[in-house]
Amino acid sequence: MNHFVWRKGVLHAEGVPLTAIADAVGTPTYVYSSATLTRHFRVVSEAFGGAPHLICYSVKANSTLAILRLLAGLGGGFDIVSGGELARVRQAGGDAGKTVFAGVGKTQEEMEAALAAGILLFNVESAEELEALDAVGRRLGRRAPFALRVNPDVDARTHRYISTGLKTSKFGVPFEEAVALYTRAKKLKGVRAAGLDCHIGSQLTQSSPVRAALTKVAGLYSELKTQGHPLAYLDVGGGLGITYSDETPPSPEEYARTVLAATKDTGAHLILEPGRALVGNAGVLLTRVLYRKRTPAKHFVVVDAGMNDLLRPALYEAHHAMQPLVKRRGKAVEVDVVGPVCESTDVLAKARPLVLPQAGELFAFMSAGAYGMSMASNYNSRPRPAEVMVDGDAWRVVRERERIEDLWRGERA
Ligand SMILES: *Cc1c(COP(=O)(O)O)cnc(C)c1O
Repeated sequence: MNHFVWRKGVLHAEGVPLTAIADAVGTPTYVYSSATLTRHFRVVSEAFGGAPHLICYSVKANSTLAILRLLAGLGGGFDIVSGGELARVRQAGGDAGKTVFAGVGKTQEEMEAALAAGILLFNVESAEELEALDAVGRRLGRRAPFALRVNPDVDARTHRYISTGLKTSKFGVPFEEAVALYTRAKKLKGVRAAGLDCHIGSQLTQSSPVRAALTKVAGLYSELKTQGHPLAYLDVGGGLGITYSDETPPSPEEYARTVLAATKDTGAHLILEPGRALVGNAGVLLTRVLYRKRTPAKHFVVVDAGMNDLLRPALYEAHHAMQPLVKRRGKAVEVDVVGPVCESTDVLAKARPLVLPQAGELFAFMSAGAYGMSMASNYNSRPRPAEVMVDGDAWRVVRERERIEDLWRGERA
């Protein structure tokens, strides 16, 4: 469910015609619906009902301050993967005490900053990282609260680039080594076991891998408790998928039922790390048609957004629905919608039936709220897009379009 709706033939975000935003701010521009974000957060939280849980929004899905601020205001915590993300959370007014820190390559500086800030949990991904965290804890005279991220060796059945829970993956520690590491941690003065963690992948569209992984992990949690490890938190990761075209991911209610059934005997306080499920369908990318181009083989439509603005199609062969901002009639032809970037992979929509647009016409790439702006780059020396937050009939620019001078900030010729 989202609040991008047609009114009198014009696509709106809540009460605002997207054409008005494109005309005022230019394109490419990301537009977010605060009502959709709020709704998604509440639906996920309500699905877990009275079960003790904390939603730690996965910041890497979209780290824009206005989005972090909105979710912090709803009581959300955060799942971070770098010191930069911690700084963003704090800049947005987020609570470090509700923040968990994952990632296979945390530096000592990042660990120190996070421990000093008082984060809830370090999700530790290797034996050597545990020793490094211990050293940081002793140096700061604190015990760093940690959970081991275990790798349950479950196939998430998603795109191989976003699958993280297989034995061959770089993430987490092998399931079989977890008990020995918690035993080792008892001897360390700079860390304190506080939970257990897993995350098997992203854009999950089936419940069965979640059930399989969490059944294993919940069993381990109970075993560790029995051995006297003072665990309180079971972090079940994120990954709940969304509908881009015809996927049918579990509803938040079904997802919650699966998680709760698998973990009910643990008595743990659950930590959830949704990213995409909260922001994916809460954002669109506006773009304007530059040219049409006909070759003997194909119709091309060249737009002003490229793979530097929205990387997912080039990186994951991902599908984003494409909607005209003003409804159009006519006969559809099959087109490739391409960006200006000098790469053959800069195709935003492949073999789509589309009424051939005129130069200047406006479109929205739908479901672009997650892994859109947070993956945007300056490749081809293209300034990154502006971002707009809509709230009812009001809207505001929450990130200015990068200026040309921003492209060489910090450089010396
Ligand atoms: C990326 C990530 C998430 C969020 O994944 P989504 O598919 O966006 O929900 C959660 N936890 C960890 C550790 C991650 O790396």
